[in-house]
Amino acid sequence: MTNFNLNRLVPAYVREFEPYIPSKPDEELKKLYGCRNLYRLNNNENPLGPPPGAQEVIRAFSPPRGAVYPSGDSYYLREAIGRLHGIDPEQVVVGNGANEVIAFVVKAFCQPGDNIITADKTFAVYEWVATFSGIEARLVPLKQERFDDQAMLARVDENTKALFICNPNNPSGTYWDKETLLRFLDSLDGKQIVVVDEAYFEFVENDDYPDGITLIKDYPNLIVFRTFSKMYGIAGLRIGYLAADAAVADMIRRTCVVYSVNGIAQEAALACLNDNTGHIAGTRALVRESRDYLRRELTRLKLPVIAGEGNYLVVKLPGSDTLAYRKLMREGVMIRPMTGFRYPNHIRVTLSRMEAMEAFVAALKKILNM
Ligand SMILES: *Cc1c(COP(=O)(O)O)cnc(C)c1O
Repeated sequence: MTNFNLNRLVPAYVREFEPYIPSKPDEELKKLYGCRNLYRLNNNENPLGPPPGAQEVIRAFSPPRGAVYPSGDSYYLREAIGRLHGIDPEQVVVGNGANEVIAFVVKAFCQPGDNIITADKTFAVYEWVATFSGIEARLVPLKQERFDDQAMLARVDENTKALFICNPNNPSGTYWDKETLLRFLDSLDGKQIVVVDEAYFEFVENDDYPDGITLIKDYPNLIVFRTFSKMYGIAGLRIGYLAADAAVADMIRRTCVVYSVNGIAQEAALACLNDNTGHIAGTRALVRESRDYLRRELTRLKLPVIAGEGNYLVVKLPGSDTLAYRKLMREGVMIRPMTGFRYPNHIRVTLSRMEAMEAFVAALKKILNM
């Protein structure tokens, strides 16, 4: 045998990291749970799919182009994103989903011994990327379901490199208004990177909700994430981006793996931005109707609801969320159990078509004997 010693080669922070287990493909799940149909209410996908222009781009993609490398820096897409926000295309870094962009940022700013600060009950990828990179993730409890700005500031020390704010928060739907975000940025005074993840930006209609990208000119330590996975309905193509000060973006670009963003995704994303068929308005209307309906029905069932912005809401169940997941799967409804988000006994439900919402309510009543 060889002297191969796997453990010796792998850093402890990788060895000890508990990997995320993705769910099985729908067809396997249907067999496993014995259901004919499956409503996917677990990933906050847009049931309307991509806007028509993006659908056309996907259909028209010429197969021989599969042999050709895409633009390595999403050239035309960055130009369009720059125009959309009135910023220089050099300020934009595109990734294979916003998830990849999170990794770019952690790689660019953090080394073992450093820490990042975020909330305990939020999108888990910030914490995961930090942890398996040997970076401490300091998790500050939410306060009344909101990111607690004062408590986060209190955890900052000389090894803190970045603070991650999910705005609006997935899963609680709460957000910081412009005043709160500005106060937070002023308190940090440019000494750390502030990341504002605006994955659900296009769903928020309130006037006091800040567009982080407009603040970058005044706060060069600010990085804003956006994605094409949620409102724009191309989660399967994997594309998202960050906007930052040009010098910050230049540092981050050094950590990118070139060609990680495929050509269909770049073209479809461009078509999403050019949509003029009211795709966003239509999606917002659908989400609003479904949120009102679910809130009403769940309140009638005396189940506490945490609902705010975004195309999802959280329900507190009388018992185990993981057990409810399995029972709901047998009824053909896939939701997200929230134990992994540190919300035991809670589930998150994507706001989708009314037909799916009605199926969810009927299945929930059945499994809870209501
Ligand atoms: C879905 C989501 C993302 C990541 O989306 P990608 O599909 O990787 O672009 C990032 N942040 C939050 C809060 C999300 O919910």
